[in-house]
Amino acid sequence: MAKTDIKSMNIEDLQLFMADLGEPKFRAKQLFEWMHQKQVSSFDEMTNLSKGLREKLQQNTTLGGVEVVRLLVSQIDGTRKYLFALENDLVIESVLMKYEHGNTVCISTQAGCRMGCRFCASTIDGVERNLTAGEMLSQVYEIQKDCGERIHGVVLMGSGEPLDNYGNVIKFIHLINHPDGQNMGQRHITLSTCGLIEKMYQLEEEHLQITLAVSLHAPNDAIRKEIMPVAKANPMDRLLAACLYYTERTKRRITFEYAMIEGVNDSDDCAKELAGKLREMLCHVNLIPVNDVKERDYMKSSAERVKRFAAILQGSGVETTIRRKLGSDIDAACGQLRRSHRKGERE
Ligand code: SAH
Repeated sequence: MAKTDIKSMNIEDLQLFMADLGEPKFRAKQLFEWMHQKQVSSFDEMTNLSKGLREKLQQNTTLGGVEVVRLLVSQIDGTRKYLFALENDLVIESVLMKYEHGNTVCISTQAGCRMGCRFCASTIDGVERNLTAGEMLSQVYEIQKDCGERIHGVVLMGSGEPLDNYGNVIKFIHLINHPDGQNMGQRHITLSTCGLIEKMYQLEEEHLQITLAVSLHAPNDAIRKEIMPVAKANPMDRLLAACLYYTERTKRRITFEYAMIEGVNDSDDCAKELAGKLREMLCHVNLIPVNDVKERDYMKSSAERVKRFAAILQGSGVETTIRRKLGSDIDAACGQLRRSHRKGERE
């Protein structure tokens, strides 16, 4: 029988679960604090629970743990890239980025991805499975333990499409935000999507204070469809309408991600077309020269091209930043570390 995933449960669910085990209600809060505040990774450490209960939990439940398989540390800026094994031996990647305003962790929401973006390494073998809320939390907790410093923010920008694993991602946001747990402010959480329109409307109804990032990467459908298959079912006019609706309802500024690919989406005309579409919106554009993926033949735009593209957007009143690159000495584009590990296993 599958073990019960207690790390993904809220307090109410834990209370019901404890009642099923014949335990008093207050045990649920104790267990919640062990998992989410003290963030222990084994039942043995839960010393105020009776030995009998710990054994029952050990037998019937899982802590949705992740285990470090490999760690790369940047000598330049302290960026740490983790390869984690899940309970069934699948591997995922997470990254710790150190900024002046605090530590941010980039986590995966799925093992692999099924969105098929042409420039992304995470999607090459499709999706293996959705991660549970507990497995998303464990990435943050393990990194916090490993680096010995508080994690202030999370970006859902690792492998996977967060809105393709909707329920678990929403659970994750509520759990990491919980005052009896990590107590991370929702404003310090960024959810990045390739633009699943229906799910974006659904997300607005959750009334969260998180930041929404949308991977746009093109100024029109013709280019977008070429590099992002998801654009076929999610055309740009409807996508931008959903973004506008989201900003108007939440009053939260949207970030548009734009990976610059030489000769594909980086011309002056592209910048002008994009500016025309974003001018009226409460948004900001984040330009990033595309990371090389060795299975793909896309090249990054030159630094001058990126600057010029930014200048055109800014000149049209669209707030634009060029993403500072962290960890360039341990550079591996999204999903590359995981891919090289999996290939090693097969050889
Ligand atoms: N599926 C979500 C979140 C994961 S990807 C999304 O699409 O937003 C996180 C970001 O990295 C996205 O903006 C994605 O387009 C971008 N990305 C993926 N591969 C990249 C590459 N090779 N170079 C630069 N950005 C890349």
